[in-house]
Amino acid sequence: MLKDTVTLFGNISLTKKTAAAITEMGFEEPSPIQNQTIPLVLAGNDVLGQAQTGTGKTAAFGIPIMERITELKQIQALVLTPTRELAIQVSEELGKIGKFKRIKTLPIYGGQAIDRQIRTLKSGVQVVVGTPGRLLDHIRRNTIKLDNVKMLILDEADEMLDMGFVDDLESILQHVPAERQTLLFSATMPTEIMVLANKYMKDRVTVTISKEQLTVPLTDQIYYETRDKLDGLCRVLDSETVGRVIIFCRTKKGVDDLVASLSARGYISDALHGDLSQAQRDRVMKKFRDGKLDILIATDVAARGLDIDDITHVINYDIPQDPESYVHRIGRTGRAGKKGVAITFIQPREYRQLKLIEKEVKTRILRRQLPSPADILERQTEVIKNQLTQTIARGSFDVYSGIVADLAADYDPIDLAAAALKLFQEGYKEQAVIEKAQFGNTGAEPGMVRLFINAGRAQRIQPQDIVRTIAEEADIEGSIIGVINIYDKFTFVEVPESVAERVLSVMNKNTIKGYRINIEPAKGR
Ligand code: AMP
Repeated sequence: MLKDTVTLFGNISLTKKTAAAITEMGFEEPSPIQNQTIPLVLAGNDVLGQAQTGTGKTAAFGIPIMERITELKQIQALVLTPTRELAIQVSEELGKIGKFKRIKTLPIYGGQAIDRQIRTLKSGVQVVVGTPGRLLDHIRRNTIKLDNVKMLILDEADEMLDMGFVDDLESILQHVPAERQTLLFSATMPTEIMVLANKYMKDRVTVTISKEQLTVPLTDQIYYETRDKLDGLCRVLDSETVGRVIIFCRTKKGVDDLVASLSARGYISDALHGDLSQAQRDRVMKKFRDGKLDILIATDVAARGLDIDDITHVINYDIPQDPESYVHRIGRTGRAGKKGVAITFIQPREYRQLKLIEKEVKTRILRRQLPSPADILERQTEVIKNQLTQTIARGSFDVYSGIVADLAADYDPIDLAAAALKLFQEGYKEQAVIEKAQFGNTGAEPGMVRLFINAGRAQRIQPQDIVRTIAEEADIEGSIIGVINIYDKFTFVEVPESVAERVLSVMNKNTIKGYRINIEPAKGR
């Protein structure tokens, strides 16, 4: 290959088009699983990879797929995933990696009109990401042609087996050419996976992320679970006594976006990432060292080798991709005997990755509730009083006086002023309204969400089974679980709104008393 057609991603040579796509996605260097996997796959090996979501495993197979397949409009790579959500997610990521090479990736899953999928398949795609059931459907209808598949990827293979897809998988494998490269990714490696690997993979190489001994510094480690990380971050910055803070994002783009979003909310921060020139880097670092900048937002790569004391908070705005990175990041606070705080934000689906980090690092990351507007107010009372008296002293608020004068005829002036402060602090949207809309009316008590489980007395399920399983899996106190109604074939259980998303994400397709369940928000009465 000519030298000028390749670009380095870490130590991995990639063609320009793929490298450009990776740059656009904001990746600065390969994650550990990518470093190990990509060269092996590019060299044509079958790879058995042990990796969780959040480690960058999708790009670990996505990058070599895009490098190895051609622009010919025939299906050359087939990715199998256990769920529809994962199929969509993986397909989106592959679409981004193959963007400049114009590689078309199609997700295929049940629940979507099959006619539409057939039409797109006819128009010619190079990569298909599908769930086993729907894929078999296409094979049986003869609406998919797999004769040209050169790469087969089984993603989250343990989940697929747990969900009972083994027969489907074997049937699909009959329709894929034997002369192919096979990659298998799985978070765990039970015997069934090894059996599958022995049967369907050739001369495979096994890849796991190293488990060197990791030690963490003297630091309070907490995590917040929220769907709105930006709002959560602002609440934390408003309610804690923060000094110098480093916030970590996964990508350069993530860093730039966060600097912009914080700036729009009145927080001054600056970025540190690989796109900056040495002079820009030095300037940012000097401001940070001199105390002229309190919030530094960085990628892992850019922060490497940063040597600054007195960092009060390390905030993982994006969860680290591996336990080592977690340890490196939080090692920047709590130095020289001073106490630091390490905060990690997760979305509900990232809970498992957090637990994995906790386990590997042998540490405890404590769950906390995000500060409420009342907590922030308590902390900011002095600041607010100060700002108010300054504003009165400076005058020129006549435009607002008219509004107050109008309302003062009907309202108590203290109520008016307090309401104005609330409006200023919290904005107009009420939290309660937003949260309600998330699950709709499920017919639960206020503050609770009622969940529907498709198993009941027929599966010999008892209330204590529900409480124990949910409490263990979602890591919550059993006592906060509310009313449980068990019927013949289904069960309703109420859980607090604040944990509902997590219960849904960890319990769906999980098992209660060995019975695999579906769980979803109940439809209100
Ligand atoms: P996955 O483990 O494949 O679910 O990936 C988790 C997230 O990490 C996704 O949002 C990816 O886009 C992102 N990601 C994957 N590889 C990298 C990388 N080398 N640098 C930064 N972000 C990455």
